[in-house]
Amino acid sequence: MKNQNELKSLLISINHRGYPAYKDTKGAYQFNGYILSIDHVQGDPFAAPSHISIHVSGKSAGFPEDFYRDRHRRVAIADYLTRAFHREAESFNHKAKGSGKSGLISTCRPGQEVLERSACVIDGKSGGLVFRLDVGFPANGRSINSTELIKILYDFLPICVKNALFYHPERKAVYESVLQLSDDQRAIRSLLPELGLCAFVADGSVLPRKSGVSELPMDNATVFASPESVRVTLDLPHRGKVTGMGIARGVTLIVGGGYHGKSTLLKALELGVYNHIKGDGRELVITENSAVKIRAEDGRCVHSDDISLFINELPNGKDTKAFSTEDASGSTSQAANVVEALESGTQTLLIDEDTCATNFMVRDELMQSVIHKSQEPITPFIERIGGLYRDLGVSCILVAGSSGAFFHVSDTIIQMDRYVPYDITAKAKEAAKDYPAPVLKALGEEKVTAPSFQRIPLAGRDFREGERIKMKTLGKDAFSVNHETVDLRSVEQLCDSEQTAALAQILKYAEQNLMDGKRSLQTVAGLLAELLEKEGLDLLFKRSTAYSGLAMPRKQEICACLNRCRFLKIK
Ligand code: ADP
Ligand code: MG
Repeated sequence: MKNQNELKSLLISINHRGYPAYKDTKGAYQFNGYILSIDHVQGDPFAAPSHISIHVSGKSAGFPEDFYRDRHRRVAIADYLTRAFHREAESFNHKAKGSGKSGLISTCRPGQEVLERSACVIDGKSGGLVFRLDVGFPANGRSINSTELIKILYDFLPICVKNALFYHPERKAVYESVLQLSDDQRAIRSLLPELGLCAFVADGSVLPRKSGVSELPMDNATVFASPESVRVTLDLPHRGKVTGMGIARGVTLIVGGGYHGKSTLLKALELGVYNHIKGDGRELVITENSAVKIRAEDGRCVHSDDISLFINELPNGKDTKAFSTEDASGSTSQAANVVEALESGTQTLLIDEDTCATNFMVRDELMQSVIHKSQEPITPFIERIGGLYRDLGVSCILVAGSSGAFFHVSDTIIQMDRYVPYDITAKAKEAAKDYPAPVLKALGEEKVTAPSFQRIPLAGRDFREGERIKMKTLGKDAFSVNHETVDLRSVEQLCDSEQTAALAQILKYAEQNLMDGKRSLQTVAGLLAELLEKEGLDLLFKRSTAYSGLAMPRKQEICACLNRCRFLKIK
């Protein structure tokens, strides 16, 4: 391997030459304590910045073995190091000057969630780590200014690497708090099934956010305090005994007046499938891993979904056992979202009336007496919610402040009153007795059988080897493949644009490797989840050099993504 002096000589020799001469720097170089690898060199100063990776051996990094042996700890520590590196690198960003993206030092900046990312990967055996970042190679106009690049590679980065990526004994307490939190979060996750819970919200949690555009915790919020009747005490490895609200499997209804904190609680549960960093306020709000937020999504495409559980005999005669549309209505989109969530293996549905199609959820008695069942294609969700749990084991946490009909089908009813939850199950059930309408009484008695999940994506055609494919990520909300957009705005549990970027790569991987025209979509998604679990995001870089910018999505979001590709043919 070449050493750092050889790279320096090369850089000095190409100073002032045309920008393409930077391409010669591609390769790996031994620096003091790490290897610097220039993986991809940008074509010109205005193009996307160059990819660089830093490889630190386990011995040089010096982290104790119990920091990285277990996957959850590895992910937590990698997240911490990524944040640390970002803080270090920020002060050097654009300190080197020039045209276009010259001097840009771009590193991943995680939000409130702790995710597995391609930015920083720690080896579980050796404790060696790879850190990836992007650097704008400096130029004046279009001629190389390697003096400035030398500043970045020889003055700035060594400081960042040393301060962020090497073990510092004096930070022991900080590392420990990161690791211990991840242990406790993991412990809660594994306790949920044993206790028959689908979620846990610790007392003292801060659920609301600072604003609609900030994910930071609200100052002076009313902290969460569980109602005694549903309070559980968990014994965690580090914090010891922690109390909070246990949301039991089954049907849980969250009611209350407008503005009393219902949606805020549900939102916290939606994101509770991820771990949160210390200080977030939702560190100990944990929802079982497969929970899926369900909402209406007018206009989405649907590929051959069996939505007959909810919709039958449409006036246009369309088959609802294999329902396809380019433009779903509120109710059909929500039906598709439920069925696809079941297909993805979810155990818990999360629903907020604020984002539902009303006619999908309920139909009141008066309407039922005027419009006969045979004239209404929709079997409302309220008639299925009980059976979904009884027959398929799928729980539901539902925010519904406007229809008392759900009292009949709920196992637990929580009222949010000025941001404080109360268990009103007994009271509400008592009141519901006075409304013994036969339609309501019969709710949910019909057996629910699982929809058919036999849909097969046709063999991949969009990512043919050797063809130039233009892929672009548009923040968290969408990505495009050759100018065709995959709209993920309504996939509300995507929490990071790097997950969206990963989904685009996962789609490509699935088309190239797994979709053979025989495997069902469910099988493909299952294989993807398995492979990603085993190999991490490296799976996606089998044929190319890895780069920063991807974060791990769940299987549920992978399914959601495949389902929203208009160009994918699924029959
Ligand atoms: P709902 O869904 O019941 O109408 P929201 O959950 O949307 O109510 O909350 C209404 C407002 O109250 C939001 O602006 C939210 O940030 C704020 N809020 C929610 N929970 C709390 C809390 N625990 N303490 C202080 N403010 C809160
Ligand atoms: Mg609301």
